Order: sequence, then C-alpha cells, then structure tokens
Amino acid sequence: MPRILLIEDEAAIADTVVYALETEGFRVTWKTLGREGLALLREGGLDLAVLDVGLPDGNGFELCKQIRTFSQIPIIFLTARSEEIDRIVGLEIGADDYVTKPFSPRELAARVKAILKRSGGVAAPVVGGFEIDRERSLIRYQGQRLDLTRYEYLILALLLGRPERIFSREEIMDRVWSDPAESFDRAVDTHIKTLRAKLRAIREDEEPIRTHRGMGYSFSGAVSEA
Ligand code: CA
Repeated sequence: MPRILLIEDEAAIADTVVYALETEGFRVTWKTLGREGLALLREGGLDLAVLDVGLPDGNGFELCKQIRTFSQIPIIFLTARSEEIDRIVGLEIGADDYVTKPFSPRELAARVKAILKRSGGVAAPVVGGFEIDRERSLIRYQGQRLDLTRYEYLILALLLGRPERIFSREEIMDRVWSDPAESFDRAVDTHIKTLRAKLRAIREDEEPIRTHRGMGYSFSGAVSEA
C-alpha cells in the first residue's frame, strides 16, 4: 500500500484529499505544518508527497527545495494561483506535478497513480542503463550499485530525472546544496568529475553525463539504450 504524505493546512481540503486517496487504496498521513511533514520525510518510508503552496509556517516552494536536499520523493503541488503554476511547470523547484484549486479529488488520485507508476513505485525505474531506487537513495548503473557520496547521488538523481534537459551549475547548486552560498561554484564540476570516474570504472566506452560548454550538464538518456 503506497504511503502518501499530505501537507495542507485547510482541514476541508485535507479531508477531501485523504478520502479520495484512501478510496484508491493509498495510505495517507496528513500534516498541517511544513516542519511536521519535513520531519516525517526525514524518517523515510513515504512514496509521494502532496504539498500545499501556502502553509502557516512557510511557503511550499521553499519546503520543496528543502525536501530536495535529501530526498527525491515525487512531489505534487496543490496550488491556487496561475503565477505559481508557471514556476512549477518550469520545474525550477523540483516538483513532479501540480493540481490547481479547486480540483477534483479524482483527478488528484489519477495524478498520484500516474506519477507513482512513472517513478517506479515499488520497482525501480530504469533509464539508459541506470536504475534509481529513490526511497533508499541508491543508483545502479549497468546492474552495479554505485558507491556515491551524498552530493554525487543528488546530482545524478537530478540529471536522471530529466533526460536531455540541461541543468546550469547555478541550478544544480540551488537544487542539490542546502546552503548554496557556502559552496564554491566549482564544487559542481568537482562532483561531476568524480561521478564520471565512477561511471567510467563500470563502463569505459560511454559518457552518460554530457557537458554543454557555457550552459551546464545533462544526462543523455539515449547513450546506453543501444
Ligand atoms: Ca494553505
């Protein structure tokens, strides 16, 4: 039974969401504060999070960024305003999907199902030779488990999540580092370098992480498909 975390401060909305998801066979834990949800996420064991944008103890976008520093759990936003949607659609903050209030509970349940299916749910998804187990924060390459540092894992998981999408160094910093101001820009390059060495040790003839001069890095999903 997939476990969903709902962070929403309005009881009426939360009730509807909990009912809709539990009817579909999900187990839902409801929290009204961002910090309560965050604490629960740190414990692990959750399959997906539904976040309200406006929370009593902060902004859902900031919360999402914080979550992304340690977890790649799929995130769906409940949002009210169209300008918020633009930011989510741009995926600047690392969300997987959104629904606009007022929404149909059935639609939300359908989105949850679709994302869990896409992100693997129980079975880990395989992309271009990579297999990501987001719940346990581990990645296999060509069937071999990669021994990664926390930052290497977060960078690789970020790139793998959006094949062919170019991430600038600033974006990687912003989404991977909890306090980007404390790190040097070059840190991204350093981690990419060690990451590549680890991938090359497994398969020498492929370069899944591509450098785009002056732009950033991308994961080339097609490389190991052949
Ligand atoms: Ca709210």
